[in-house]
Amino acid sequence: MTLNKYDITKKDMDVLKIIYNNEKSGWLTRIRDISNQLNIKPATTEQYVKKLEDNSLIVRKDSLIKITDKGKRYVEKILRKHRIIETYLFLKGVELECACNEARSMEYCISDSMIKIIEMEIGNPKKCPHGKEIPEEGDD
Ligand SMILES: [Zn+2]
Repeated sequence: MTLNKYDITKKDMDVLKIIYNNEKSGWLTRIRDISNQLNIKPATTEQYVKKLEDNSLIVRKDSLIKITDKGKRYVEKILRKHRIIETYLFLKGVELECACNEARSMEYCISDSMIKIIEMEIGNPKKCPHGKEIPEEGDD
């Protein structure tokens, strides 16, 4: 089964988000940063990173990992899905932390058209219940 066009799993997404967030905070990621943060072996991390690299979502220079424009657009697209799902669940009375966890389980595999339906259903919100901005729909 194909989850999405890069066949990205939840774990791949966790790795990509770490790289994205580090870069937003102004520094580049190393394999061991990811291993430490996710508590997984460097060899396992290497496999995740390799897959992201094969999909051109990141590039490596020496031992530093950098997200590509394509990778950034992809993370933003997933963040958008995350925030729309959690906003929907929150509006339906689901506790925020639980809504956020549920969103993490769905964000990477829900289709663009399904997200659009949910987004319209809740009136195209601009912010999620955490107060973070919901990115506009971008291109791939
Ligand atoms: Zn959340």
